[in-house]
Amino acid sequence: MNRRQGRPGSKQPLDQVYPVVFSGISMKNRQHCFLHLLQAEAAYNELLDKASKVRQELSQIVFLGEELETLIKDFGVAMDADEMSMFNWHLTNLEYANVGLLSQLSLAFWDQDDPYDMGGDHCFLSGGNGRLVPALAENVPIIFLKTVHVIRYGRDSVKVTTRGQLFEGDMALCTVPLRVLKSGSTRFILELPQQKLDKIKRLDFGLLNKVAMLFPFMF
Ligand SMILES: Cc1cc2nc3c(=O)[nH]c(=O)nc-3n(C[C@H](O)[C@H](O)[C@H](O)COP(=O)(O)OP(=O)(O)OC[C@H]3O[C@@H](n4cnc5c(N)ncnc54)[C@H](O)[C@@H]3O)c2cc1C
Repeated sequence: MNRRQGRPGSKQPLDQVYPVVFSGISMKNRQHCFLHLLQAEAAYNELLDKASKVRQELSQIVFLGEELETLIKDFGVAMDADEMSMFNWHLTNLEYANVGLLSQLSLAFWDQDDPYDMGGDHCFLSGGNGRLVPALAENVPIIFLKTVHVIRYGRDSVKVTTRGQLFEGDMALCTVPLRVLKSGSTRFILELPQQKLDKIKRLDFGLLNKVAMLFPFMF
């Protein structure tokens, strides 16, 4: 997930492109709602960039939330209620994307996985993403409704047990969700290495709710 928003290619210093935001003078014309959104987005991206620069100069442990609060005050960002609410949306989205409170994220390391992010623009697959599934599943036997209870693995083979059935193979790729691994409902024999168990315990995940709304007309 790209935690910075908008199009990075079009970045310019915020005080040149959106003087309204940094001067703290709010626009009163609500027809400029879309402009507000862009301003809040640009301000948000700009502050993240400033926070990245600042961290190189800091020796002590500083949290991202703390630094953003300082920068918000220093630059007088999002002073009016509309801009503030959009700005807050970005901050909340950042917490969701990082599965953690900004007040608990390290300024130095919060985005250390960014270089491994998937780049490029979003795209639309004609015919829908559903086309990918049959193509990927071609000639792959898929057995539904088999809950794996035990995975016995050794150097040369693996035995996977579901209720009343045993599957054997040279190796198994286990892709059950983290929640399932945390619950311990799938037993590994041998037990997983301690390092993996510790990571399963430490890693967390976010909660995502999506609301679908169907309108009787297009707008
Ligand atoms: C509401 C919602 C909206 C999302 N929207 C997007 C989006 O727009 N774009 C996007 O990129 N991602 C989205 N995601 C995230 C995406 O769906 C997940 O990241 C992705 O599906 C994870 O794939 P996975 O194979 O790791 O796990 P899963 O898709 O969860 O697959 C794990 C499978 O393991 C099976 N399983 C579990 N336990 C056992 C067991 N003991 N034995 C056998 N099988 C078992 C489960 O039944 C499941 O089929 C969304 C997620 C949610 C919840």
